[in-house]
Amino acid sequence: MELDPIEIMEILKEKGITHLYHANTVQTASSFIKAGGLFSRGAMEDAEYLQTPQSSDELDKQFNVWYDIFLDSSDLHSLFNRQNHYGPVLFKFDVEILSQEGLPPLWVTTTNPIYWDENSKEEERYFQSTQEVNEGYTDTSYRQMITLRNTSSPLLFEPYLEEIILDNPGVRIGDVILKKKASEALAEVIAENDYILKNVKKRMRKCSNCWCKENYLRQRTASELKLAFYP
Ligand SMILES: [Zn+2]
Repeated sequence: MELDPIEIMEILKEKGITHLYHANTVQTASSFIKAGGLFSRGAMEDAEYLQTPQSSDELDKQFNVWYDIFLDSSDLHSLFNRQNHYGPVLFKFDVEILSQEGLPPLWVTTTNPIYWDENSKEEERYFQSTQEVNEGYTDTSYRQMITLRNTSSPLLFEPYLEEIILDNPGVRIGDVILKKKASEALAEVIAENDYILKNVKKRMRKCSNCWCKENYLRQRTASELKLAFYP
């Protein structure tokens, strides 16, 4: 069910949530930067922007979320001390982004669509009222997601984007140092386009007591790492 974005923003703030996040690969993030905002997977495909295939793509189409933009209410990498499964680039927005005019219809999922069943009903997939969100939404959830639905328009970066954070996997493939490859690619696309303002912080993530480096090294193949970190 479509929910009032201002009411949802106020509920999130009351729960101490000040920012919204979107993680993606270097390649898809670069396309967002070229285009000036986040796009739904469907809109990216229609506009023939480069985007990295995700294992959830077929389910996204089946469950009618292909044209939706997904936002998390926490930095899942920091929260769970592991890399974000959707990619090493994180866009961090002020939660006030939900107050902007012309926002696509806002729905809040009860779980991540990868856990949906083809027989599950809409009320099982989405919160049905702001009251339900107030009672059921937790800031440490990684399955409950804010979605902006059925949109081919971008969720513009300006003026709510605060930071772009890149993982340092600490891995090289042959002679290619992934951290260097990815950060140079992002710096280049940022310099070539006017959409990322000077006040947006660009930084390499600093982790302590985190599994990401270990996971990148031991649980990801070279081709998976290339998909995540190559432009
Ligand atoms: Zn980490």
